[in-house]
Amino acid sequence: MSAMKSPQAFCALAMTCSLFSPAFAAEEPLVRVAILQEVPNARLTILAPCRATDLEKGTLVKQWPELKWQQVESGPSGLMIGQTEIHTDVLLLEPTRDAIIRINARPYRGTLILYRTARGKVTIVNRLGLEEYLVGALASEVGQGWPMEALKAHAIVSRTVVAHRIWIQRGQPFDVSPATHLYYGAQAEREDASAAVRATEGQVLSFNGELFSASFSTNCGGHTENASELWDMQGSVIAPLKGRPDPYCRDMKHYRWEANVGTKTFMEKLGDFSKQIGELRDCQVVERNASGRVRSVLLVGTDGSVTIPGRTFRERIGSDRLKSLNFTVTVSPAGISFSGFGWGHGVGLCQWGTYGMAIQNHTMDEILNFYFPGAKRRPLKGLPGFINIY
Ligand SMILES: [Zn+2]
Repeated sequence: MSAMKSPQAFCALAMTCSLFSPAFAAEEPLVRVAILQEVPNARLTILAPCRATDLEKGTLVKQWPELKWQQVESGPSGLMIGQTEIHTDVLLLEPTRDAIIRINARPYRGTLILYRTARGKVTIVNRLGLEEYLVGALASEVGQGWPMEALKAHAIVSRTVVAHRIWIQRGQPFDVSPATHLYYGAQAEREDASAAVRATEGQVLSFNGELFSASFSTNCGGHTENASELWDMQGSVIAPLKGRPDPYCRDMKHYRWEANVGTKTFMEKLGDFSKQIGELRDCQVVERNASGRVRSVLLVGTDGSVTIPGRTFRERIGSDRLKSLNFTVTVSPAGISFSGFGWGHGVGLCQWGTYGMAIQNHTMDEILNFYFPGAKRRPLKGLPGFINIY
């Protein structure tokens, strides 16, 4: 379940740090967001009294009037915060009042869980309320100027994705990471994202009364993908994730792409596959799935031929270069040329199709019903694992 990074998302980085304090319901699920994983060290600043709790023993171990640009790293037998070594591998660090936490100068809300890892590194996890997390996450995913109905639909899908992660990641060190969701912390927060999260507070998509792995990608290229092409669904794929034609992203951003790769680079990237065929003579798509995406590619060379699964082929050539699996390929003396549609895996909500629907005055519910047919919008409260929350 990986959301593709879009250039719009990176616009949020350039913004000045203006914070839109969400002030959501006091009781809401907490989400654990991996900010830095397996790093040698990081710098922490909390300009408020804060305390550290050893999460292995459940005891309060240290308090500070404030922390200013203190280095966190793995020590000989525990976690180092500045010159202080705390003899635990898991530490909860909390400001005693609502204060911004800075990790390497970037601001975050909530509290921190610090892990000393087996490799002598540290992993830093930000724990905060689901709704306040979504404000920063939505603003990190979507650029400014989007219609409110599109933002609201995206907020519900993002909340569904994260709530599902909270449920399936029980017992793990964190729920989401940059591989799941873009999140640039409190500095990314914007008023439009805050309004969309607030307007849909606590609302998720469910199917047959359960959360499901709703997903999204930048542009589906004209047909959303059946989730079973991407994940092992252990049986038949549910109706909302079967994939469908999408006319709304046509001619929107990232609908078409072209890529050229030199023959030498192409063969190097395919490594062991290219060694089986000698010199490259041809490259052909041999099978496509129902959504038009490539299932397998045939390489033909002077010494033989080899078939490569489409997903392996895209990973080897590079998923930034081959922006999707919906492509055609030609081989010429100049190299290998690709022409394709869309950006990302294509499962679930198509971000640019959502934009396209909203500018044609479709409502949030119409957008959600289009991309997740059969799914129902409902409160998260009452679903398995969230019954007593809110
Ligand atoms: Zn689309």
